[in-house]
Amino acid sequence: MKEIVIATQNKGKVAEIALALSKLPIKVLSLSDFGPIPEAVEDGTSFLENALLKARHYSQYTGKACLADDSGLEVDALQGAPGIYSARFAGETASDDDNNRKLLAELLDVETKGRTARFRCVLAFVDHDETVLTTDGVCSGMITTEAQGLGGFGYDCLFYVPELKKTMAELSKTEKNAISHRGRALENMAIQLGGYLK
Ligand code: IMP
Repeated sequence: MKEIVIATQNKGKVAEIALALSKLPIKVLSLSDFGPIPEAVEDGTSFLENALLKARHYSQYTGKACLADDSGLEVDALQGAPGIYSARFAGETASDDDNNRKLLAELLDVETKGRTARFRCVLAFVDHDETVLTTDGVCSGMITTEAQGLGGFGYDCLFYVPELKKTMAELSKTEKNAISHRGRALENMAIQLGGYLK
């Protein structure tokens, strides 16, 4: 059975990705199945570049096929920021709260109709540096004027999903996975991988 390493240190993400790929004839491994591996330097200029460089880096170190992701928030009124800098919007050591405070401050004068945004996730699959599959998933919404909901992480409490009339932080895990950028990118990756593994 084909072994695929999920190239992330985040255990929640490994579980979510493993579940999305569970119908494929693969054995999912995580970085914790290997000895210490130096962390990839995410110095790409786009989600795609970062996802690809992570997949290639961990594929080289593990000697196996790797699937990596990169994701973040794009806010139209901020010309797509924070984008690839989402995790460190308010500084290198910023917490989710710091980032959310900065986002609200930057949008202080922006009216409701101008507060459009999207979460984006890019997945990259590299097999011994040869075959490369990539997928992109988007979830569109609006940035609220105050935090709402206690679930999720990152910008979830400020991200309102119009179809569900709730913020991401008010959704159950299952509801979020069904509409999220990562859920959509994974759905597409599962289809592409299915074809590749035939
Ligand atoms: P990563 O690529 O998953 O490490 O995400 C980078 C950053 O984007 C995170 O630290 C969050 O700030 C933001 N982000 C990505 N996905 C989500 C999400 O589903 N909800 C909230 N924030 C997210």
